[in-house]
Formats: sequence, C-alpha cells, structure tokens
Amino acid sequence: MTVKLPPLRDVIARYGLQAEKSLGQNFLLDGQLLDRIAAIPGRLQDTPVYEVGPGPGGLTRALLKAGALVTVVERDRRCIPALNELEAAHPGQLRIIEGDALSIPLEDILPDGGAIVSNLPYNVGSALLVKWLTEQSWPPRWSSLTLMFQREVADRIVAGAGTDAFGRLSVLAQWRAKARIALAVHRSAFTPPPKVMSAVVNIVPTEQPEGVNIAGLEAITAAAFGQRRKMLRQSLKSLPRALEALEAAGIAADRRPETLAIEEFVALARAYCCLTGSVTTGLG
Ligand code: SAM
Repeated sequence: MTVKLPPLRDVIARYGLQAEKSLGQNFLLDGQLLDRIAAIPGRLQDTPVYEVGPGPGGLTRALLKAGALVTVVERDRRCIPALNELEAAHPGQLRIIEGDALSIPLEDILPDGGAIVSNLPYNVGSALLVKWLTEQSWPPRWSSLTLMFQREVADRIVAGAGTDAFGRLSVLAQWRAKARIALAVHRSAFTPPPKVMSAVVNIVPTEQPEGVNIAGLEAITAAAFGQRRKMLRQSLKSLPRALEALEAAGIAADRRPETLAIEEFVALARAYCCLTGSVTTGLG
C-alpha cells in the first residue's frame, strides 16, 4: 500500500527536530537512498525488523514501504510524535519504544530470525555492534545486520588479515559471519553533513567453528591486539596458557597479530579453549 506522507524536511520543521550532536544525529532525507538501504537485507515483506534510532523516520518509512514489521528504539523524546504519525499511517506495522538501545535486551525487541537495519548513532554504534556479534548462542537471534558506520569503522569491520584496518573488530565480525560493505555513502547525503564519509555494512551469520567459544576468542583477540605492534610471544604473555595455545596451534611466536588469518585466530582460540577447559560445543 502506498501511503502519502509529508516531506521529511516538513516533519523536522514541524516538530523542531534540529539535529543534536550529542545524540549522533545526522539524518538521511533522500527517499531513493533510503529505499536502497532498506533493500540491502533482501525481501522484508512481513519480516520483523529492528531499527535503532529512527529520528524523524526516514529509514523507517523505507522499511515500512518494504512491508517490514518494524520496531524502533529512539532515545530522543522529541522524535516520538513524528513517529506516532508514521504508526497511524501504517497501523499494526510499527512499534515505537522510547529508550536507550544499549540497555534494552534484544530478546525484548526482536523475534528470532528478524533483521536489524539502522543508520546508527556514531557514539554508540560500535558498542551495539560488539554486543550483537558476541551473543552466546549462534546462529544469533538476528538473521542479518545492515548498519551505517563511519567509513573508517566499516573498513575495520570488513578488513582482511595483513591490512592496517585489520583488528579485533574484523575478527569478531568474520569468525562466524560474512561481512561486506554494501554501500558507500557520501557525507553530503546527511543533514547536517558529518565530517567523515560513511558506509553501510551487511553482516550475515555463518556456522560457528567447532570447539571455540566467544569468550575464548575474545580473550585471545583482546590480548593479541592489546599490543598490536608487539610479537605474539610478548602480547599473549599476559593471558595464562595463551603461549601454550600458540604453540599447540603451530603459529610462530614472532608473528604480529595483524598477520594472522581469521582461521589462524580460530585455531589459536580453539587450542586456548581446549587448554583452559572451557565449553567446547558449538553452542558457544
Ligand atoms: N534513522 C534516522 C535517519 O537515518 O535519518 C536517524 C539516524 S541518526 C544517525 C541516529 C539516531 O539515533 C538519532 O535519532 C538519535 O536520537 C538516536 N539515538 C542516539 N543514541 C541512541 C540510543 N542510545 N538509543 C536509541 N537511539 C539513539
């Protein structure tokens, strides 16, 4: 059903939604661009979708148009009346929660198999991503993540071994998921334009490797990248049994963390999990 809605600029003016820097507010107003973002996860008809930070509702409109059953969490109370208007235009298709996305458990928002699509507030974007990537049970509740980040963060998420951008975030995003940059977005697309370029990242879960849990993998990556310029023999010293794990995995101790392929991190974490006796089932 096509619903006639007022232009987003009018909504912003009518409800006095001047962008607040402290809330990471950079709004997208171009309907075509928003439709392209909403198309990235694939068909959304009757699919539950969670959007963090709808603001005046530009991306929300595109998701509703695609037929999704949308739940939004917005911290800025000023946006709620504008979102209520959207709900009235799409009865039964939009649930609005006023609150902080960081403190609401995902199971209260998204049914199993739903997608997460968001133009994230930059100040909490990485924290939310890490939260979603480190869920204990795998596959996770979400079927895909389609998220806008500053370009530099997006590059870190999808980076391959041996590159400057490769780090903890790359390993977390790729050891049991596929991550790609789906769309580059110029800074001028936002109102107001931020200082930096952006990109939409798409992440889809894959099977979790056997014998490794997220706690073990996180302990290894935190220690390894905690001292990025150091050889592993030095950086892993701080983590009990990690040097034994390095040897058991057959990885040379004079290598630096950014040279290890994701599979080598998995092998190292598997040896570490085995040596420390932590859970080794696929359930994480
Ligand atoms: N989705 C809109 C768009 O694309 O134009 C707005 C995106 S803007 C980058 C980020 C939005 O997240 C803002 O509306 C802001 O108020 C909201 N926000 C900031 N911190 C939040 C938090 N902790 N929980 C929920 N929403 C938050």
